[in-house]
Amino acid sequence: MSRVYNFSAGPSMLPVEVLERAQKEMLDCAGSGQSVMEMSHRSKEYQAIIDEAEATLREIMNIPDNYKVLFLQGGASTQFAMIPLNLGNKNKVADYVITGQWAKKAYQEGQRYLEAHAIASSADKTFSYLPEVDKSMLTPGADFVHITYNNTIYGTHFNTMPDFGDAVVVADMSSSILSEEVDVSKFGMIYAGAQKNMGPAGVTVVIIREDLLGNAMDITPTMLKYDTHSENGSMYNTPPTYAIYIVKMVCEWIKNMGGIKVMHEKNVKKAELLYNFLDNSKMFKGTVVPEDRSLMNVPFVTDSEELNAKFIAEAKAKGFVNLKGHRSVGGMRASIYNAMPIEGVEALVAFMKEFEANN
Ligand SMILES: *Cc1c(COP(=O)(O)O)cnc(C)c1O
Repeated sequence: MSRVYNFSAGPSMLPVEVLERAQKEMLDCAGSGQSVMEMSHRSKEYQAIIDEAEATLREIMNIPDNYKVLFLQGGASTQFAMIPLNLGNKNKVADYVITGQWAKKAYQEGQRYLEAHAIASSADKTFSYLPEVDKSMLTPGADFVHITYNNTIYGTHFNTMPDFGDAVVVADMSSSILSEEVDVSKFGMIYAGAQKNMGPAGVTVVIIREDLLGNAMDITPTMLKYDTHSENGSMYNTPPTYAIYIVKMVCEWIKNMGGIKVMHEKNVKKAELLYNFLDNSKMFKGTVVPEDRSLMNVPFVTDSEELNAKFIAEAKAKGFVNLKGHRSVGGMRASIYNAMPIEGVEALVAFMKEFEANN
């Protein structure tokens, strides 16, 4: 069996070491005589797993004690509703920075529950850059400002954190969490669907400052209140037990390599390889302005649709899969998350060079 290099934007590659350990523990996890999938979420065996997942995540991300870590379901998309319902109940006003489709979906969901302001947007240039934003643009009395920290579809990333002063900043980090060091204390809340960079689909991680809890709108369904999950250790109902178990092992994998700082250095090396090639190629070019480029998602194009299609097909035949760009933008996109080894990027660049020479 040979594994492909999977450049999918998500669900995406997982570290081989994690998959192998899951395989080893499939029938009998830690002497329990059961698969994690078969365990009661109320058992002491499972409690140890979720506790370890949280503790390791807290350790590698350096999460301050006054933040809760929640393991939820419904994907990052459910957060688009939970955020305004839970955090927007003081003045029922919130600001959104529109940097792509996910940001726009968050904003549109916000509009259902409060007065949502789009304070800046990069829609004018197909989200190929990030708009300048700072505290002077915030709506007075806004309960929070929402940003998409890494824009998965367009390949942009806030390489410098905007200065929002004392505002409550809520960040969608679905496609960049664990890829770089982040000062959690600068955010009111961080959230991420796990299937990009943390584990399999099915669990969404929320990191929320404690003082933001306890003020949900009356209409908020019980399951959509952060309080419900916070007060019950993410065990109000059955959590996505197996997905959390994988997240735990992914966090341990990062910890064992030396932490997020080391992970980030590897990610910089991988991204540089690809961007350097794109900047020097006569056939391929990146679509994002250099200062806002993402380390995780690298969109690129040739100047012909036909050549794009040929490239994607030939790449696939060589074991480089899921290089097709998002259906809304076309072209190509290489998602090179934490679990993509540098060998995968080197091999891709070598293939692109060869393709360029032959075409
Ligand atoms: C994938 C993604 C989402 C949607 O995640 P789901 O878990 O599928 O709901 C939201 N935001 C960003 C930045 C994403 O990359």
